[in-house]
Amino acid sequence: MKCLCGKIKTTRLFQSGLFDVIKCSSCGQVRIETRDGAKRTGYYEEEDVKFYLSHQEMFRRLFGNLLRFIHRYAPSGTLMDIGAGVGLLLDEARNMGYRVIGFEPSKASVKAAKKYFGIELIPREFHKTLKNMNSNIDIVVINHVLEHLKNPKEIIGLCAETLSDTGVLVIGVPNFNSFMRWMKQGKWQSLIPAQHRWQFTLASLDELVLPHGFRRIAVSYENHDRSMHYWWKKPIYAALDRIALVTGHAEAMVVIYKKI
Ligand SMILES: [Zn+2]
Repeated sequence: MKCLCGKIKTTRLFQSGLFDVIKCSSCGQVRIETRDGAKRTGYYEEEDVKFYLSHQEMFRRLFGNLLRFIHRYAPSGTLMDIGAGVGLLLDEARNMGYRVIGFEPSKASVKAAKKYFGIELIPREFHKTLKNMNSNIDIVVINHVLEHLKNPKEIIGLCAETLSDTGVLVIGVPNFNSFMRWMKQGKWQSLIPAQHRWQFTLASLDELVLPHGFRRIAVSYENHDRSMHYWWKKPIYAALDRIALVTGHAEAMVVIYKKI
């Protein structure tokens, strides 16, 4: 497998079960490769849909925060969600006054979005459809999707074509440069090697996105919920999380890019 930069030479960072986490020797992009017998998992199945529906309040809160962040830079227009899941983010966006469009290849998710929220998602992989779309989208959201894709470069290129001249691209990914990843390596909660093909840092995300005619205008960091930890660990995590947020080492990040 080649890196996004086209080079092949790599360094192995660490192992996680049947997966190897490796880094491109040329550009530093991190990717996850499978060993013999390792299986990657695909799109959302019925049980994932159930999880989203039963944890709806939590996801609505998360997506609400994300949308308020987006709203500061793009307060109106058409918002397109790539990998829309069961449509919770779009439902929240619609409540805030945005026009919404979403792509979702999982049949179970598309059905649920229609049934529970009355949202008609486009039931296809977006890169097969985007090619015929007009360049009039104001906001494209790729939230925790990019790291799953075989060819993220192609998707970013298509997003650039689809966005209007003043459009913004919003990307949410796990932060490979986080304290928790440094501490936990192969056991890091957001590594999810069976699903994630790529892992990004702010620098590697910039390297992927900026050549497509974007500039970075905002970054927001977030940590995971720590309520499941032992009571004696909580103050340690609270201190670490606070430092992580201000230094850019929290577990996930949302980055907003604007067309040049
Ligand atoms: Zn590379």
